[in-house]
Amino acid sequence: MGGRAVAGSSGETSPVVDPATGATIAEVDLAGPSDVAAAVAAAKAAYPEWSTATPGSRSAALLALASRLEGRAAEYAAAETAHTGKPIRLATQFDVPGSIDNVQFFAGAARNLDGKASAEWDGLHTSVIRREPIGVVGSIAPWNYPLQMAMWKILPAIAAGNTIVLKPAEITPLTTVMLAEDCAAVGIPEGVVNVVVGTGPVAGEALIGHPDVRMVSFTGSTPVGRRVMEIATAGIKRVHLELGGKAPFVVFDDADLEAAIHGAVAGSLINAGQDCTAATRAYVHASCIDAFIAGVADLFTSVVVGDPTDQATDLGPLVSRRQQQRVAGFVDRARASGARIVCGGDIPQGDLAKGAYYLPTLVAGVSQEAEIVQQEVFGPVLVVLPFETDDEAFALANDTGYGLAASAWSRDVYRTLRAQREISAGTVWINDHIPIMSEMPHGGFKQSGFGKDMSTYAFDEYTQIKHVCLDITGQARKDWHRTVFTYEG
Ligand code: NAD
Repeated sequence: MGGRAVAGSSGETSPVVDPATGATIAEVDLAGPSDVAAAVAAAKAAYPEWSTATPGSRSAALLALASRLEGRAAEYAAAETAHTGKPIRLATQFDVPGSIDNVQFFAGAARNLDGKASAEWDGLHTSVIRREPIGVVGSIAPWNYPLQMAMWKILPAIAAGNTIVLKPAEITPLTTVMLAEDCAAVGIPEGVVNVVVGTGPVAGEALIGHPDVRMVSFTGSTPVGRRVMEIATAGIKRVHLELGGKAPFVVFDDADLEAAIHGAVAGSLINAGQDCTAATRAYVHASCIDAFIAGVADLFTSVVVGDPTDQATDLGPLVSRRQQQRVAGFVDRARASGARIVCGGDIPQGDLAKGAYYLPTLVAGVSQEAEIVQQEVFGPVLVVLPFETDDEAFALANDTGYGLAASAWSRDVYRTLRAQREISAGTVWINDHIPIMSEMPHGGFKQSGFGKDMSTYAFDEYTQIKHVCLDITGQARKDWHRTVFTYEG
């Protein structure tokens, strides 16, 4: 914290485990409430100077950070793979370059944060709109994309002049700690970026509840998001929630079926399905559902499952044994209630048994009400259901509590235009599923949360609007005063 590494005071430690092998690769001290308080104090102390630093100097600091990360890209990718189990190809080609691009984007955006000179609305005053930072931001991130999630939290916050205390998931802290070290190394002032490694119930709740934290930004599951919101309510804090997802993937009868099949495989298996926007529910027109199932099953059974450090590996382990058991539980319960497991549905044996692996799994023959259709599984599992009419497809796509992302596949321009409007989600892809870009917002509808990460829309979360109203008459006695008190002359 404050640019320095400090041992946690809770007296507890937690192992960081490589989920591909089960080996402990690091042991971290867990932060207690007093560590959180010290980090918040460091952020509070840094705020006056950072919030009044010129946008140009904040931008320069971020550009220096981007250069440093470029030089360490391979180290970041290796560390990201080690604690999450994600394939090194994904870490190298998606997580790390995406994170660096985000830094570069916010370095530019930091210089384009303006308010506006407004107008003489009543003829007697002129108005100015100032966009100001909020103060100390308390952020909590999940384990699926530790580096990218840290970036999505830190960058818009500090580009706008806030200071931040970030708590990564305790099982994947390595790259967030590296990032904090690099922020210090490139001269981002002490206390602007602080990282506390601790558990959710202890360090997380202490952070959200701390009176000097003015805004809470959380990415994680919907149940924990609800708890975060409850705690923040007591302090009337601004809240930004990026929660779970259950993305529908709607394939119409005129779709390019080969594109849809390839899109479904990439969209559901990315990061072993531990992606809040992953394709999870494929609704496929009854006329082409058999061909779709056959095509996806064919590719699911051919992906290379194995050592995530191998460039040839497509699918690594899940993040932990706990997550493996959770995913297996969903599939086992679906199987027990009559679902057809087209392929996968198992924990692989042999050499892979030492890791938290789960095979790519395609499930059919389930009803819309089934648990596996309604709840977030967060694993390499795709469920396929049929539909007959467009109206039915849109109704089914919208029929869960979530609304983070969705895709629609069709060659009919009017259908795709209708899909954009009808599907209730923060991102709707047409004829693709997954791509994100720093310039565009990411965030949910419904129980997937509210507020946006990435893009200049993120500044709407991390800034507050001030109206400055200036008298332009220079008169000592103003007419409107007479509505309050009478005076002579
Ligand atoms: P999680 O909700 O279990 O944990 C997320 C973070 O919250 C962790 O840092 C954890 O330590 C912390 N936490 C846990 N209990 C807490 C408490 N009582 N108070 C404060 N903090 C607490 O989620 P996860 O399992 O780490 O991540 C997977 C979830 O994240 C999925 O639901 C996924 O959809 C969601 N996610 C959403 C987005 C998005 O942009 N919407 C992005 C990535 C992940």
